[in-house]
Amino acid sequence: MAVPVRQNLCPASRYDIKCPYTRTPTRVVIHNTANDAPAENEISYMLSRPEEISFHYGVDDKEAVQGLPLDRNAWASGDGHGKGNMEGIHIEICYSLSGGSRFAAAEKNAAWLTAQLLRQYGWGVEKVTKHQDYDGKYCPHRTLDLGWGRFVEMVKKELNTPEKEEEPDLTEAEARKIAQEEIGNYFAALEEKPVSGWAKKHVELVKERGIMNGDKDGGFRPGDVITREEVASALVNALGLGKEASDYARQAFEKATQAGLLDGAMPREALTREQFALVLDKLGLVPWAEEEAGEEPQQPAAPDDPQDQQEDAPGGEAEKENG
Ligand SMILES: [Zn+2]
Repeated sequence: MAVPVRQNLCPASRYDIKCPYTRTPTRVVIHNTANDAPAENEISYMLSRPEEISFHYGVDDKEAVQGLPLDRNAWASGDGHGKGNMEGIHIEICYSLSGGSRFAAAEKNAAWLTAQLLRQYGWGVEKVTKHQDYDGKYCPHRTLDLGWGRFVEMVKKELNTPEKEEEPDLTEAEARKIAQEEIGNYFAALEEKPVSGWAKKHVELVKERGIMNGDKDGGFRPGDVITREEVASALVNALGLGKEASDYARQAFEKATQAGLLDGAMPREALTREQFALVLDKLGLVPWAEEEAGEEPQQPAAPDDPQDQQEDAPGGEAEKENG
C-alpha cells in the first residue's frame, strides 16, 4: 500500500549545520524516535534545533515526511564521519515510545518506504541497516525488541509486491460523470452510423408507417439493439390495432421466433433495429413493402394514417424514450 511521501526540506542556509556534505548514499539506516510525535513534528523539530542532529525521513502511521536531500549526509548514527552518517539514508520510525497500533502502522509504512528506496537505488535488503550497527546504541529500540529480522522480512515482502500504477479512487459523482460521458459517446457514435444499404428501404418504411418511431430527436439509431418491450410495441404498432391487438402481436412475435428471426439465428443481444425493421417486412407487417415486394399480407393491414396509429399505439412513448 503506497504511503504518502511529502517534503519539508531543510533550507540551504542551514545545510552547514544539518547536512554539510554532498555524497552518494549506499544504504538505509533505521531508527526509532523514542518519542510519541507524528512525522511532521519530528521533522520540523529536527530542522528547528540548533544542534548537529538530523535525519532524512520521519515516518508515522499516516505518511512519510522528508527533511533532508538524499544526496546530503545526516548527523544521526553517532559515528562522526563514518559510513552511517556519511552514506546512510536515515529513517526515523515514529511513536516508538508507547508503541501500539500507531507504531505498528508506522513501522509498516517505514518498511514500504525502505523498499521504495532499495528499488530506486537498485539495492538488495542487505542495504537495510540499523543505527545500532554504527555506534552500538540500542536503536531502533522497539523494532529491535520486536525483532530486527521481522522488520527485514517486512521490507522483503514490500519488495516482492509489484508496484502497480495506482488508479486514484473515484468519488461516486466522478464515476457517474464518466459513465454518463461514455454512454453519451456510445449513442453519439451509433447516431453517426449510417443505415446499411440493404436495410435502408425497410427502415424508411417502418419510420414512415410509425411502426418504429425513432428517438425523441427522430434518430433511428440503426445499429442499436432493440429491447423485448420495443419489439412488442413495434409489432402492435405494425398491426395498428392498439391494445386489442395483443393476440396478433403475440402471434407475430411467436412467428418471428419460430422463423429463427429473433431468438434463433440471431441472438437477441445482436438484433439491431435495422435488422428488426427487416424482420417486420419479412413477416408482411409493413404494408408498403408488401406491394413493392409482391408478397401476400400475413396480418391485417395497418390503418392508413400513420399519425393516428402513432398516437394510439400503446408503448409509443416508451418507444420514443428508449428507441
Ligand atoms: Zn537512532
